[in-house]
Amino acid sequence: MNPILQLARPDILTLQPYQHAAWEPSLERMHANEMPWRATQDATGAGLNRYPEPQPAELVEHLARLYGVAPENLLVGRGSDEGIDLLVRAFCRAGEDSVLICPPTFGMYKVSARIQGAGLVEVPLLKEQGFALDAKSIASAWRPGVKLVFVCTPNNPTGNLMDRRAIESLCAEFGERAIVVVDEAYIEFSERASLVSELPRFANLVILRTLSKAFALAGARCGALLAHAEIVELLARVITPYALPISTIESVLQFTDAAHCTESQRRIQSLREERGRLREHLQRLPLIRRVWPSDANFLLVECTDADRVLQAAIGVGLIIRDPRSQPGLGNCLRISIGTPEQNARLVRGIATASGQAA
Ligand code: PMP
Repeated sequence: MNPILQLARPDILTLQPYQHAAWEPSLERMHANEMPWRATQDATGAGLNRYPEPQPAELVEHLARLYGVAPENLLVGRGSDEGIDLLVRAFCRAGEDSVLICPPTFGMYKVSARIQGAGLVEVPLLKEQGFALDAKSIASAWRPGVKLVFVCTPNNPTGNLMDRRAIESLCAEFGERAIVVVDEAYIEFSERASLVSELPRFANLVILRTLSKAFALAGARCGALLAHAEIVELLARVITPYALPISTIESVLQFTDAAHCTESQRRIQSLREERGRLREHLQRLPLIRRVWPSDANFLLVECTDADRVLQAAIGVGLIIRDPRSQPGLGNCLRISIGTPEQNARLVRGIATASGQAA
């Protein structure tokens, strides 16, 4: 057994998973209590009257190729949110174990921990160093029961990449003591390669990827968890039996083929250019004190008056994110990069609110 599995909840290790209806495509289905007819005008390939294939092989193989792993190293689920939830549920005993997070960061790590009744250890990012990872403090904050260490790179909502060496040193440091979960939801918007190449080196490394961002498929709800096969197998016992809807499976296969990958690359390039332009324009506005550099598809801005900026955005029909409840983000707002027209409208709206002609 991979020693890292010792970290899992003992009752999950011995869990007898739900026995879903056998997947036997060569036989006609009279074993899953489905209707034998499709709904009128159901134009899906497989038919929505049928339960989908659990961990659909074609999709798993396709995504494994896309992300550069073997199929046994990939678990597909409903967005990376599901990956986060599965990890916390499979590894953390309520009231006993904890997850370590580095705020300000993506909110679901904390929420998933709270739902599971797991504790939370927080080691803030170093704001004065551009929200860098404080690897030393993370290493010393570890205590027995900390099972998962979440690192988001590029980080939401700060937009910066974390130092790759620092992440690798955490994997080496924690060894069999904790899993390092690297959330790469926004990695395609950066110039940096994924940490997937490090998977063979570290049995305790788990990587989260999503189709929601660069592939423009947030509504499909599909994400992939990349890890050693034993971790994938363990989580596959916990995931709901028919996790991915047929319409999701079919759309993801369709919209991540070679032509769409090329299109996605082109759009990422446009988005990066737009990100640079928007940053420049925002930096000139009196209501904006600072715009942090970003390797993601959003910008974190520090305002002189965040409420006025929020209202200015609403005034031109746009909503931006208010992350001010997070530590270190007083007066900060997060702006997702929009179309050139939306970005220009936002800049105009904020300029007008500050009494400046755009
Ligand atoms: N990780 C990060 C860092 C995110 O920002 C998000 C969504 N905003 C997610 C994971 C979840 O993405 P999804 O469930 O759509 O894959």
